[in-house]
Amino acid sequence: MSFPLLGKKQQCFWIAIGQCRLILLLLFFNISPQLPDGQDLPLPPVILGELGKDPQNPTVCFYGHVDVQPAKKEDGWKTDPYTLTEINGNLYGRGATDNKGPVLAWINAVETFRAMPVNFKFVIEGMEEAGSLGLEKLLEEENQCFFSDVDYIVISDNLWLSNKKPALTYGSRGNACFFVEVECGDKDLHSGTFGGIIHEPMTDLIALLDSLVDPTGRIQIPGIYDSVTALTEEERKLYESIEFDLEEHKNNSGVKKFLYGTKEEILLHLWRYPSLSIHGIEGAFHEPGIKTVIPAKVIGKFSIRQVPHMDLSVVKRQVRDKPFLCPNNLKVSMPLGAKPWLADVNDPLFKAARRAIKTVFGEDPDFIRDGSTVPVARMFQTITQKSVMMFPIGAADDGEHSQNEKISRHNYIEGTKAFAAFFLEISKLHRRLHKTSNTETNNC
Ligand SMILES: [Zn+2]
Repeated sequence: MSFPLLGKKQQCFWIAIGQCRLILLLLFFNISPQLPDGQDLPLPPVILGELGKDPQNPTVCFYGHVDVQPAKKEDGWKTDPYTLTEINGNLYGRGATDNKGPVLAWINAVETFRAMPVNFKFVIEGMEEAGSLGLEKLLEEENQCFFSDVDYIVISDNLWLSNKKPALTYGSRGNACFFVEVECGDKDLHSGTFGGIIHEPMTDLIALLDSLVDPTGRIQIPGIYDSVTALTEEERKLYESIEFDLEEHKNNSGVKKFLYGTKEEILLHLWRYPSLSIHGIEGAFHEPGIKTVIPAKVIGKFSIRQVPHMDLSVVKRQVRDKPFLCPNNLKVSMPLGAKPWLADVNDPLFKAARRAIKTVFGEDPDFIRDGSTVPVARMFQTITQKSVMMFPIGAADDGEHSQNEKISRHNYIEGTKAFAAFFLEISKLHRRLHKTSNTETNNC
């Protein structure tokens, strides 16, 4: 049964989920990228849903996505990627863990209640694998409406660090990409005619790139570490109990030796310290054989995985000030500057999820971060200013984006129970906190 149209872009539906009736508000955002022939390409709608409006209850908003990476049987799948197939307790299929499985687990968790202990909202999009096109605009437009009464935001779009031990994710590094362009003139030159008498752009660029990071991985840009948050004792302790197989991680990478020898050092440098990687040089001669050319213009490309609260303005300044580049033209730009995301593990969200996991899985979760960038978490946090947590249910070996992606039946079922237990825990915790703050206000 459909509701009357709310506007050109919005449509409202009732759908029945178990005992409950869930209102789905479909928002069709008109952000249509243009094809080369000038045609608009309409984006799939983002689905916003809500259930319950009890002012005594906290409002939890869940985010997930239902688009997937491409998959073909001939890529090396042992089953049809678009037919969910159970083999030895694992459910194989594209999107099983990323992210249709967790989306369904949340819906299943909602179904278990006759009366929900929380007000539930959700955001389900279909453009995540293509960079969540349109989502930021939606969040901005709905911030004062749909998100205005949301207390907590939960994202289930990542994996545990281990195959067996549950985890909660509280941070991710950002990604700032830099281009350094060095140019000596408007045409390439012959090394027999000009080699030895000019400042070659490639030589300058390589010297510059070489000065950015040393062989121990330490970034050599002065001031870059000045604003990196210091490691606290409480934070260091989180690393001790984390389940992480260093040897397996090394074997998966194919390298012989890491820069650090202990689990703690490896995770700290992967998650909460910055790293600088040099990716390539545009304009360099890279084909097989010999070519005695001096390129007139080369562009070095490097990136910094940034952490809170680094000041990246020092990068451009320091690179521009390199003295040996004086005679050549130098341009430094930052075409991408995705910021890091960090949540407070003492937030009620994390306390409630920890209790829920302990109840269902019988052990405390690992508190983990991600060395890559999670733009969605940062986007929700920045725009809505609400508490954000990532609550994965997939195991480290689920193979998201890979052939034979799966989620285990065990993780799917226990994950659903953990989500349901989370509703109860966050409701209890929120009411208690609310009561305390009310009492404090009354006492004033
Ligand atoms: Zn995903």
